[in-house]
Amino acid sequence: MKRIVALTLLIAGLFSCKNSSPETREKPMIVATTSILADAISEIVGDLADVQPLMPAGVDPHLYKASVRDLDLLTNANLVVYHGLFLEGKMTEIFEKLAYSQNLINMSEELPENKLLRSGPEAHSVDPHIWFDVQLWEMALESTVEKLIEWKPEWENQVRSNWNNYRKKLQELNNYAQEITGKLVSSGQALVTAHDAFAYFGEAYHIEVRGLQGLSTLSEPGLRDLGTLVQFIIDRNIKAVFAEQTISPRALNALVQACEKRNHPIQLAGPLFTDSLDAPNTEAGTYIGMVRSNLNTIYQALQP
Ligand SMILES: [Zn+2]
Repeated sequence: MKRIVALTLLIAGLFSCKNSSPETREKPMIVATTSILADAISEIVGDLADVQPLMPAGVDPHLYKASVRDLDLLTNANLVVYHGLFLEGKMTEIFEKLAYSQNLINMSEELPENKLLRSGPEAHSVDPHIWFDVQLWEMALESTVEKLIEWKPEWENQVRSNWNNYRKKLQELNNYAQEITGKLVSSGQALVTAHDAFAYFGEAYHIEVRGLQGLSTLSEPGLRDLGTLVQFIIDRNIKAVFAEQTISPRALNALVQACEKRNHPIQLAGPLFTDSLDAPNTEAGTYIGMVRSNLNTIYQALQP
Protein backbone atom coordinates (compact mmCIF):
# COMPACT_ATOMS: atom_id res chain seq x y z
CA MET A 1 0.00 0.00 0.00
CA LYS A 2 2.76 2.37 1.01
CA ARG A 3 4.45 1.65 -2.27
CA ILE A 4 1.31 2.51 -4.26
CA VAL A 5 0.93 5.80 -2.40
CA ALA A 6 4.58 6.62 -2.98
CA LEU A 7 4.27 5.74 -6.66
CA THR A 8 1.10 7.83 -7.03
CA LEU A 9 2.85 10.78 -5.36
CA LEU A 10 5.84 10.36 -7.65
CA ILE A 11 3.63 10.34 -10.75
CA ALA A 12 1.61 13.30 -9.47
CA GLY A 13 4.88 15.11 -8.79
CA LEU A 14 6.22 14.42 -12.27
CA PHE A 15 2.92 15.47 -13.80
CA SER A 16 2.79 18.77 -11.92
CA CYS A 17 6.45 19.48 -12.72
CA LYS A 18 5.78 18.86 -16.37
CA ASN A 19 2.71 21.09 -16.27
CA SER A 20 4.55 23.99 -14.72
CA SER A 21 7.77 23.79 -16.71
CA PRO A 22 8.53 26.85 -18.86
CA GLU A 23 8.32 24.82 -22.11
CA THR A 24 4.92 23.22 -21.66
CA ARG A 25 2.88 26.12 -20.28
CA GLU A 26 -0.01 27.46 -22.29
CA LYS A 27 1.03 31.04 -21.57
CA PRO A 28 4.41 32.33 -20.41
CA MET A 29 4.62 32.97 -16.68
CA ILE A 30 6.05 36.34 -15.63
CA VAL A 31 6.99 36.77 -11.99
CA ALA A 32 7.13 40.38 -10.72
CA THR A 33 8.61 40.91 -7.27
CA THR A 34 6.16 43.37 -5.67
CA SER A 35 2.36 43.57 -5.91
CA ILE A 36 2.63 47.13 -7.29
CA LEU A 37 4.93 46.02 -10.08
CA ALA A 38 2.87 42.89 -10.84
CA ASP A 39 -0.21 45.09 -11.30
CA ALA A 40 1.61 47.28 -13.84
CA ILE A 41 2.99 44.30 -15.78
CA SER A 42 -0.50 42.71 -15.87
CA GLU A 43 -1.90 45.91 -17.38
CA ILE A 44 0.84 45.95 -20.02
CA VAL A 45 0.77 42.29 -21.10
CA GLY A 46 -2.99 41.77 -20.64
CA ASP A 47 -3.86 38.13 -21.27
CA LEU A 48 -0.66 37.36 -23.20
CA ALA A 49 0.97 36.02 -20.03
CA ASP A 50 0.20 34.82 -16.56
CA VAL A 51 1.64 37.42 -14.16
CA GLN A 52 2.37 36.42 -10.58
CA PRO A 53 3.57 38.66 -7.75
CA LEU A 54 6.38 37.13 -5.70
CA MET A 55 5.49 39.04 -2.54
CA PRO A 56 1.88 38.86 -1.41
CA ALA A 57 -0.12 42.04 -0.73
CA GLY A 58 0.71 43.65 2.62
CA VAL A 59 4.34 42.50 2.67
CA ASP A 60 7.25 44.91 3.27
CA PRO A 61 9.67 44.56 0.30
CA HIS A 62 12.63 46.12 2.17
CA LEU A 63 12.66 43.21 4.62
CA TYR A 64 11.49 40.42 2.33
CA LYS A 65 13.62 37.28 2.22
CA ALA A 66 12.96 34.79 -0.57
CA SER A 67 11.86 31.34 0.60
CA VAL A 68 12.79 28.05 -1.10
CA ARG A 69 9.38 28.11 -2.79
CA ASP A 70 10.11 31.62 -4.08
CA LEU A 71 13.43 30.48 -5.55
CA ASP A 72 11.55 27.73 -7.40
CA LEU A 73 9.08 30.26 -8.73
CA LEU A 74 11.86 32.63 -9.81
CA THR A 75 13.84 29.93 -11.63
CA ASN A 76 10.72 28.38 -13.15
CA ALA A 77 9.28 31.61 -14.55
CA ASN A 78 9.76 32.52 -18.22
CA LEU A 79 10.64 36.05 -17.17
CA VAL A 80 11.33 37.82 -13.88
CA VAL A 81 10.70 41.56 -13.52
CA TYR A 82 12.07 43.27 -10.44
CA HIS A 83 11.95 46.81 -9.15
CA GLY A 84 15.66 47.43 -8.49
CA LEU A 85 17.10 50.52 -6.72
CA PHE A 86 17.66 48.20 -3.72
CA LEU A 87 13.94 48.07 -2.93
CA GLU A 88 14.20 44.30 -2.64
CA GLY A 89 17.09 44.88 -0.24
CA LYS A 90 17.56 41.26 0.82
CA MET A 91 17.33 39.83 -2.69
CA THR A 92 20.19 41.60 -4.46
CA GLU A 93 22.40 38.50 -4.55
CA ILE A 94 19.56 36.38 -5.87
CA PHE A 95 19.11 38.71 -8.85
CA GLU A 96 22.86 38.64 -9.52
CA LYS A 97 22.80 34.86 -9.62
CA LEU A 98 19.57 34.65 -11.59
CA ALA A 99 21.04 36.91 -14.27
CA TYR A 100 23.20 33.98 -15.48
CA SER A 101 20.28 31.70 -16.31
CA GLN A 102 17.02 33.67 -16.31
CA ASN A 103 15.37 36.38 -18.45
CA LEU A 104 15.47 39.33 -16.11
CA ILE A 105 14.17 42.91 -16.35
CA ASN A 106 15.23 45.55 -13.84
CA MET A 107 12.34 47.96 -14.36
CA SER A 108 14.03 51.08 -12.99
CA GLU A 109 17.41 50.57 -14.67
CA GLU A 110 16.93 53.11 -17.47
CA LEU A 111 15.80 56.01 -15.28
CA PRO A 112 18.22 58.93 -15.68
CA GLU A 113 20.38 59.57 -12.61
CA ASN A 114 19.07 63.13 -12.29
CA LYS A 115 15.53 61.83 -11.70
CA LEU A 116 16.62 59.76 -8.70
CA LEU A 117 16.62 61.01 -5.10
CA ARG A 118 19.38 59.99 -2.70
CA SER A 119 20.08 60.28 1.00
CA GLY A 120 23.85 59.85 0.48
CA PRO A 121 26.50 58.94 -2.10
CA GLU A 122 26.42 55.14 -1.55
CA ALA A 123 24.65 52.95 -4.11
CA HIS A 124 22.08 51.70 -1.61
CA SER A 125 21.20 55.21 -0.42
CA VAL A 126 19.06 55.75 -3.53
CA ASP A 127 15.35 56.19 -2.78
CA PRO A 128 13.44 53.32 -4.43
CA HIS A 129 9.88 54.68 -3.96
CA ILE A 130 9.51 55.99 -7.52
CA TRP A 131 5.87 54.87 -7.87
CA PHE A 132 4.70 57.87 -5.79
CA ASP A 133 5.59 60.19 -8.66
CA VAL A 134 3.09 58.95 -11.22
CA GLN A 135 5.05 60.43 -14.13
CA LEU A 136 8.29 58.83 -12.98
CA TRP A 137 6.54 55.47 -12.61
CA GLU A 138 5.21 55.93 -16.15
CA MET A 139 8.75 56.66 -17.38
CA ALA A 140 10.13 53.48 -15.78
CA LEU A 141 7.27 51.44 -17.25
CA GLU A 142 7.88 52.96 -20.67
CA SER A 143 11.36 51.40 -20.81
CA THR A 144 9.97 48.18 -19.35
CA VAL A 145 7.54 48.03 -22.28
CA GLU A 146 10.48 48.23 -24.70
CA LYS A 147 12.30 45.44 -22.87
CA LEU A 148 9.20 43.26 -22.92
CA ILE A 149 8.96 43.75 -26.69
CA GLU A 150 12.64 42.88 -27.09
CA TRP A 151 11.92 39.67 -25.20
CA LYS A 152 8.72 38.82 -27.17
CA PRO A 153 8.74 40.75 -30.48
CA GLU A 154 5.52 38.96 -31.53
CA TRP A 155 3.71 40.75 -28.69
CA GLU A 156 4.57 44.22 -29.95
CA ASN A 157 1.17 45.38 -31.30
CA GLN A 158 -0.82 44.09 -28.37
CA VAL A 159 1.63 45.37 -25.75
CA ARG A 160 1.81 48.85 -27.33
CA SER A 161 -1.96 49.08 -27.52
CA ASN A 162 -2.39 47.99 -23.86
CA TRP A 163 0.28 50.45 -22.82
CA ASN A 164 -1.33 53.37 -24.65
CA ASN A 165 -4.62 52.71 -22.89
CA TYR A 166 -3.02 52.31 -19.49
CA ARG A 167 -0.84 55.34 -19.92
CA LYS A 168 -3.88 57.58 -20.41
CA LYS A 169 -5.21 56.37 -17.07
CA LEU A 170 -1.85 57.15 -15.45
CA GLN A 171 -1.99 60.67 -16.87
CA GLU A 172 -5.47 61.17 -15.40
CA LEU A 173 -4.17 59.89 -12.07
CA ASN A 174 -1.31 62.38 -12.19
CA ASN A 175 -3.78 65.23 -12.78
CA TYR A 176 -5.84 64.06 -9.82
CA ALA A 177 -2.75 63.99 -7.60
CA GLN A 178 -1.88 67.54 -8.63
CA GLU A 179 -5.38 68.76 -7.90
CA ILE A 180 -5.57 67.20 -4.41
CA THR A 181 -2.09 68.16 -3.27
CA GLY A 182 -2.50 71.69 -4.65
CA LYS A 183 -5.36 72.28 -2.18
CA LEU A 184 -3.29 71.03 0.78
CA VAL A 185 -0.15 72.94 -0.11
CA SER A 186 -2.03 76.23 -0.26
CA SER A 187 -3.15 75.64 3.35
CA GLY A 188 0.41 74.97 4.54
CA GLN A 189 0.00 71.28 5.46
CA ALA A 190 2.79 68.69 5.18
CA LEU A 191 2.74 64.91 5.01
CA VAL A 192 4.21 63.03 8.00
CA THR A 193 4.42 59.23 7.66
CA ALA A 194 6.03 56.19 9.28
CA HIS A 195 8.95 55.91 6.85
CA ASP A 196 10.50 58.03 4.11
CA ALA A 197 8.43 56.64 1.26
CA PHE A 198 7.03 59.93 -0.04
CA ALA A 199 10.06 61.96 -1.13
CA TYR A 200 9.23 61.53 -4.85
CA PHE A 201 5.63 62.37 -4.06
CA GLY A 202 6.81 65.56 -2.35
CA GLU A 203 9.04 66.51 -5.29
CA ALA A 204 6.43 65.82 -7.92
CA TYR A 205 3.49 67.48 -6.20
CA HIS A 206 5.35 70.19 -4.25
CA ILE A 207 4.20 69.09 -0.81
CA GLU A 208 6.63 68.91 2.11
CA VAL A 209 7.09 65.39 3.51
CA ARG A 210 8.69 63.91 6.63
CA GLY A 211 9.19 60.29 7.61
CA LEU A 212 9.85 58.94 11.10
CA GLN A 213 12.05 56.12 9.80
CA GLY A 214 14.59 56.30 6.98
CA LEU A 215 14.29 55.21 3.35
CA SER A 216 14.27 51.56 4.31
CA THR A 217 12.26 50.14 7.18
CA LEU A 218 15.48 48.39 8.25
CA SER A 219 16.54 51.44 10.27
CA GLU A 220 14.94 52.21 13.66
CA PRO A 221 13.89 55.80 14.42
CA GLY A 222 15.94 57.47 17.17
CA LEU A 223 14.71 59.75 19.96
CA ARG A 224 16.35 62.76 18.37
CA ASP A 225 14.38 62.19 15.16
CA LEU A 226 11.23 62.04 17.26
CA GLY A 227 11.96 65.39 18.97
CA THR A 228 12.73 67.13 15.66
CA LEU A 229 9.56 65.81 14.11
CA VAL A 230 7.40 66.85 17.08
CA GLN A 231 8.76 70.40 16.76
CA PHE A 232 8.06 70.41 13.03
CA ILE A 233 4.46 69.27 13.60
CA ILE A 234 3.87 71.99 16.18
CA ASP A 235 5.53 74.73 14.13
CA ARG A 236 3.51 73.89 11.05
CA ASN A 237 0.27 73.17 12.89
CA ILE A 238 0.00 69.72 11.28
CA LYS A 239 -3.32 67.98 12.02
CA ALA A 240 -2.52 64.33 11.37
CA VAL A 241 0.26 61.80 10.82
CA PHE A 242 -0.19 58.68 8.72
CA ALA A 243 0.31 55.03 9.53
CA GLU A 244 1.42 52.66 6.76
CA GLN A 245 -0.06 49.29 6.06
CA THR A 246 3.26 47.40 5.92
CA ILE A 247 4.73 48.97 9.09
CA SER A 248 3.86 48.58 12.78
CA PRO A 249 2.36 51.86 14.12
CA ARG A 250 4.33 51.54 17.38
CA ALA A 251 6.80 54.33 16.59
CA LEU A 252 4.04 56.58 15.25
CA ASN A 253 2.06 56.09 18.45
CA ALA A 254 5.07 57.41 20.34
CA LEU A 255 5.00 60.46 18.04
CA VAL A 256 1.29 61.06 18.68
CA GLN A 257 1.85 60.82 22.44
CA ALA A 258 4.85 63.15 22.31
CA CYS A 259 2.73 65.73 20.46
CA GLU A 260 -0.06 65.40 23.03
CA LYS A 261 2.44 66.03 25.84
CA ARG A 262 3.35 69.30 24.12
CA ASN A 263 -0.37 70.25 23.98
CA HIS A 264 -0.64 69.65 20.24
CA PRO A 265 -3.05 66.72 19.80
CA ILE A 266 -2.87 65.11 16.34
CA GLN A 267 -4.80 62.36 14.62
CA LEU A 268 -3.14 59.06 13.73
CA ALA A 269 -4.70 58.64 10.28
CA GLY A 270 -4.43 56.05 7.54
CA PRO A 271 -3.11 53.54 6.97
CA LEU A 272 -1.61 54.64 3.68
CA PHE A 273 -0.59 51.95 1.23
CA THR A 274 3.05 52.59 0.55
CA ASP A 275 5.17 49.60 -0.47
CA SER A 276 2.42 47.13 -1.29
CA LEU A 277 -1.09 47.08 -2.70
CA ASP A 278 -4.07 46.07 -0.60
CA ALA A 279 -5.58 42.60 -1.21
CA PRO A 280 -6.83 41.91 -4.77
CA ASN A 281 -10.36 43.21 -5.58
CA THR A 282 -10.28 45.90 -2.88
CA GLU A 283 -10.21 49.66 -3.49
CA ALA A 284 -6.42 49.86 -3.13
CA GLY A 285 -5.85 46.50 -4.82
CA THR A 286 -4.43 48.13 -7.98
CA TYR A 287 -1.74 50.78 -8.40
CA ILE A 288 -4.23 53.41 -9.59
CA GLY A 289 -6.65 52.50 -6.78
CA MET A 290 -3.85 52.63 -4.23
CA VAL A 291 -2.67 56.11 -5.25
CA ARG A 292 -6.26 57.43 -5.33
CA SER A 293 -7.09 55.90 -1.98
CA ASN A 294 -3.93 57.41 -0.44
CA LEU A 295 -4.74 60.84 -1.88
CA ASN A 296 -8.26 60.68 -0.48
CA THR A 297 -7.06 59.53 2.96
CA ILE A 298 -4.45 62.30 3.07
CA TYR A 299 -6.92 64.95 1.93
CA GLN A 300 -9.60 63.96 4.43
CA ALA A 301 -7.20 64.12 7.39
CA LEU A 302 -5.35 67.30 6.41
CA GLN A 303 -7.98 69.31 4.57
CA PRO A 304 -8.28 72.95 5.59
ZN1 LIG B 1 9.54 51.70 1.60
